[in-house]
Amino acid sequence: MKFGTKAIHAGVEPDPSTGAIMTPIFQTSTYVQESPAKHKGYAYARGANPTRNSLQKSIAALENGKFGLCFSSGMGATDAVIRLLNPGDEVITSNDLYGGSYRMFKRVYERFGIKFHFIDLTDVKNTESLINEKTKLFWIETPSNPLMRIIDIGACVALAKKKNCLVAVDNTFASPYLQNPLDLGADIVMHSVTKYLGGHSDVIMGALVVNNEKLYQDLAFIANACGAVPGPQDSFLVLRGIKTLHLRMERHCQNGRIIADYLRNHAKIGKVYWPGFADHPNHAIARKQMRDFGGMLSFTLRDDREETARQFMESVALFSLAESLGGVESLINHPASMTHASIPREERLKNGLTDSLIRLSIGVEDSEDLLEDLNQAFSKIA
Ligand SMILES: *Cc1c(COP(=O)(O)O)cnc(C)c1O
Repeated sequence: MKFGTKAIHAGVEPDPSTGAIMTPIFQTSTYVQESPAKHKGYAYARGANPTRNSLQKSIAALENGKFGLCFSSGMGATDAVIRLLNPGDEVITSNDLYGGSYRMFKRVYERFGIKFHFIDLTDVKNTESLINEKTKLFWIETPSNPLMRIIDIGACVALAKKKNCLVAVDNTFASPYLQNPLDLGADIVMHSVTKYLGGHSDVIMGALVVNNEKLYQDLAFIANACGAVPGPQDSFLVLRGIKTLHLRMERHCQNGRIIADYLRNHAKIGKVYWPGFADHPNHAIARKQMRDFGGMLSFTLRDDREETARQFMESVALFSLAESLGGVESLINHPASMTHASIPREERLKNGLTDSLIRLSIGVEDSEDLLEDLNQAFSKIA
């Protein structure tokens, strides 16, 4: 089955009791049993819920995986993966990670004796001297936020497999429409479902997809034992969102390309970060492992001052100034003062996150209107 058909049909069957074409919201905490421990596969809703089960099957199918698990947030999903580890274990991950993942690794799990190596994973050779018998996990995020760097998933997998390490990929920015890490040999795919999968900026949720049954059992055990599961109402909203994932992604990509080209040719722009440009440093890998380049991009202003960036962001009307991404509406964000404000300025500048850097999550509006909005905002700055 092809992607769009799966987005609409996978995991979803008419409700057996009524024929309802839409998966019902099973708003229940428990299930009546015929006799002790004799039930229809559902005992208590932390462990299983039919609406959630449908969604888990749908997301697994989109990632070409066998097993899906949903969590109450993306961070809840990431947390479940790290709970597979033991004190003394080591993780190799990138130095431009999603801020919340960095915070969890550094401030929660280092206290439990897990060691994280934050390095430039765009060159896998950097990992060779770090891998040892304690290395248990690669945590990869590609494309990265906000500089849209691309990590070669296949190359990381090749290296990790030699050492028996698990490879987990945060696939939030690409969505399953653009990239399927399990097909490239990764063991675990993680999503902040909050973003493209949900797609309508109305749900916080996370997901994991795996192929290995033992790994699935271990993660399902953690999900039930630790309890970060989503509710049925949110599961329904995401099932509904996924039905248009392919249509939305097509438009996100189309608009992303139009706006990247526009920005690149604008006199008031410094740099534009978008993996679809032939001169993007990781363009070749992006072409190899992604189907298109998505609707996320960042740029700096020729006048590289925070004040000018602020003026620009206050001038846009259609773009909403907000954190998050992947929804139908276009968002604008200032990493230096918003998502990456906790990083000291010196450190931030070293990593290319300059004072005027602006990130866009391009929505699915008509591109003419988005361009007009950017144009009038540019006319208000130096
Ligand atoms: C948003 C996000 C997360 C965290 O997901 P939540 O649903 O907000 O908990 C993790 N990784 C990436 C790349 C994200 O954009």
